[in-house]
Formats: sequence, structure tokens, C-alpha cells
Amino acid sequence: MKAIIVGGGIGGLSMALSLHQAGIEAKVFESVRELGALGSGINLQPNAVRELDEMGLGKALAAIGVATQKWSCYNKHGQLIWSEPRGLAAGYQWPQYSIHRGHLLLLLLRAARERIGAKNIVTGHHLASFEQDAQGVSAHFIDRTTGKPLHTERADLLIGADGIHSAVRAHFYPGEGPLHYSGEMQWRASVEMDSFLDGRTQVLVGHRNQRLVGYSMSQEALNRGRVLVNWICEIRMPDTSRPDWDRKVSKDVFASAFANWRFPWLDVPALIDATPEIFEFPKCDRNPVDRWSHGRVTLLGDAAHPMLPTGSQAGSQAVVDARVLAQALLAEPTIEGALKSYEIQRLKPMAAITLKNRELGPELAMQIAEDRAPDGFHNVEEVISREEMAAITENYKRSAGFDSDSVNTRPSYLQIKN
Ligand SMILES: Cc1cc2nc3c(=O)[nH]c(=O)nc-3n(C[C@H](O)[C@H](O)[C@H](O)COP(=O)(O)OP(=O)(O)OC[C@H]3O[C@@H](n4cnc5c(N)ncnc54)[C@H](O)[C@@H]3O)c2cc1C
Repeated sequence: MKAIIVGGGIGGLSMALSLHQAGIEAKVFESVRELGALGSGINLQPNAVRELDEMGLGKALAAIGVATQKWSCYNKHGQLIWSEPRGLAAGYQWPQYSIHRGHLLLLLLRAARERIGAKNIVTGHHLASFEQDAQGVSAHFIDRTTGKPLHTERADLLIGADGIHSAVRAHFYPGEGPLHYSGEMQWRASVEMDSFLDGRTQVLVGHRNQRLVGYSMSQEALNRGRVLVNWICEIRMPDTSRPDWDRKVSKDVFASAFANWRFPWLDVPALIDATPEIFEFPKCDRNPVDRWSHGRVTLLGDAAHPMLPTGSQAGSQAVVDARVLAQALLAEPTIEGALKSYEIQRLKPMAAITLKNRELGPELAMQIAEDRAPDGFHNVEEVISREEMAAITENYKRSAGFDSDSVNTRPSYLQIKN
């Protein structure tokens, strides 16, 4: 059996590695000419870290990612609303990692090149169209920069792991229209500093209309006594642009809104001032669809379930998709049946998270604190009880499949027989 994987992102490369473990041939086609260390921070939840560990990447991940120990949210006055342990500190057998998206991608790329062969990861090939028949799928690739036809590949199945602007999804949903903008604009950046909190805490500050997220994301920097900080500032404002990860802007666009965010534990204006490059990204998702799998073709990762980044789920869920799909291809007698089985297992929970993220996901408590005490509080328990807070974050973890019970005790998604 041979699979074409469209897209060499976190989802596509995890798929290639998982198919290789399952003994299924895979060839990845990636639109850009060179897969580089693009992007900024991303969080891998323990459910995805377990899968990456089972791909044999546990040690390599630990060398580059920061094992997050705490997740803490604050109001806009810098007062602590809630703090909870994460990863190993919360009793998981696998850590949560805060990691540079580009470093993670290069780790996956190196492993995929070693295992499936560099010739099976074809860059500079943009999927233009495809068709399927009873025997297989034919995919037609072009050079994205010139529009010139390059190559047609034939395989038994095609997996669309081609991200938020997926061509595979557009084939099945031609009338879907533009992405759904949440109304929140993000400015994302990374900067190396001497220190940032305890170096292992993810912080969230503010409320629905104005927010900051920050965390340290490089173990290598920590080893040198420095901290590579990923930060995201967010403000509610209108926008009509296309979300692209490489749109550079000046801090003048947003920094004045954060001018008073100087807290004893974090000076936000100083953080912004120290940062050399800032990228703008409108927060977008799409309404869930009721089908990902169509015969011998299916969708995975952001192509299947583009979701708002609230709750740090997109990268982790793309990894889990890959494992469930590889297992379905091993277990089911037909390709069509396998793609359906994968869809049945994954579509409903991903649709639920997509919608939950629109309602602020685990960050709902920050909005509750803002609504009940916009001027701050003396005692947080008078604003939101510990039980209410714990219920919000635990429910979210359960629905996203990363509560500690299910991560620690469930069987492996991909059951390899030795
Ligand atoms: C350049 C870039 C930077 C990012 N930076 C961040 C970040 O800093 N923080 C964060 O949380 N998330 C970031 N993301 C998104 C994050 O990687 C995804 O949300 C998540 O990992 C799910 O991964 P995915 O593989 O489904 O999609 P993606 O990671 O988006 O990967 C999709 C891949 O498909 C390729 N592709 C697209 N169309 C075609 C086509 N027609 N033919 C062939 N290949 C195609 C793309 O070039 C891309 O490499 C970034 C994505 C990209 C592409």
C-alpha cells in the first residue's frame, strides 16, 4: 500500500513517520522549496508527546523543548487568577513541551528523511488537483511560484495534510468561502532574554478583548542560562486579510495598548521593546464539516479541523490524527473503510474542540474574572472558586483527550506488532 501525503508540516511528517512504523509506503509532497525553521512557539500536550515518544523521538524532543511545569492565568492588573501544574508536575507520564515550531518541524523532517528516504519527501511541489478511481488516486503537482506543471503521482490513497489553506479540503468543499475570523488579531514573536519567570511556566494575561500569552520554548537556551521567550499579544479588532505566518509588522500597531501592563513579575512593554521581529496573524478557524474522508482521500490536522489556537491544540491534535489514521489503515480490510474509521474516531471530538475554542476553551475563567471584577480583586476566591476554575480546565482537557487518566492509561493509538 502506498500513500501520498500532501503537506510537510507537523501533521504530514508525523503521518509519514507513523505510516513507516506501520509498514506502509509514504511519499510527502510539500509546496515550499525548503522546509525551514519557520514560526514561533507551539505547545505539545502530553497526549501528543506520548505519540512522538512512541515514534522514537522522546529524547530528541527533550533536548530541544522546554518541559512546561505550570500554566498560570492572570487578570489585566497582573493578579493571579489560577495556576495549575502541567506535564510531569501534574502526574502525567509524559511532559508537556513548549517548543519552537520550526525546531520541532526540523526534528520531524530529519527523522522522516532518515526513515523513509530523502527522495520520498519532495519539496517545491504544490498540489493543484487530483482525481480518484476504483484502483487509486492520481495527484497533479505544480510549481507554486510559476504555476508550471511538474509531476503526477499515483498511489492507493491521498492524505491532505496541507494546513489551514488546504487545497484538498477546497476540492471537497469548493463553496466554503474565506476562513472565519474570530475578531482577534495576534502579534507573535520570539526573543532571547536573561530570564522569564521561572523559565517553565506558560502565562496567560487579560481577557477576551486583550490578552497576552508567554512562555519559554528552548531547552538549549535554558542550558546556556538564557531564555527564548515566545510571546503573543492579542487585541479584538476588525480585519479582512488572509492569515499568513510571515506578515511582519511594527510594534507601533499594537504596543500602546499594552503600555500599562507593567507587573511586578513581568514587564510587558519591555518584553515587546526587546523583540526584533514581530509577525501579525488574524485568529481564524472554519466551521466543522461533517466528512473528512471521501473514498481514498482524507484530511488531517489543520486541513481537517482548522481551530483557534486557544488551548494550544492544533499541533498536538495533528500528531494524534496521524497515529489514529495509521492504526486504521493497519486494522481495516479496505482503504475506504480505514479512512471512514479514522473519521468516525476523530471528527466529532475535533468539531467539539473547534467550537469550544470559540468559547475561550480553558481560558474562559479569565473572562469570568474580568466580567465579575474588572477593577481587580482582594481575594480571587470571591470572584471565581477553585472548584469552578478546576472544572473549566479539567473539562477542556477531557474533551481534547489530554486529561492525565486517559493519557497515562489508554492503549497506544498505533499498535505495532513486533
Ligand atoms: C510557516 C508556518 C508557521 C507556523 N507557525 C506557527 C506558530 O508559530 N505557532 C503555532 O501555534 N502554529 C504555527 N503554525 C501552524 C501549526 O504548525 C499548525 O496549526 C499545526 O501544527 C497543525 O499542522 P498541520 O501539519 O496540519 O499544518 P501546517 O503546519 O500548516 O502544515 C501544512 C503544510 O502543507 C503545505 N501545503 C499547503 N498547501 C499545499 C499544497 N497545495 N501542496 C503541498 N503542500 C501544501 C504548507 O506549506 C505546510 O508546510 C505554522 C504553520 C506554518 C505553515
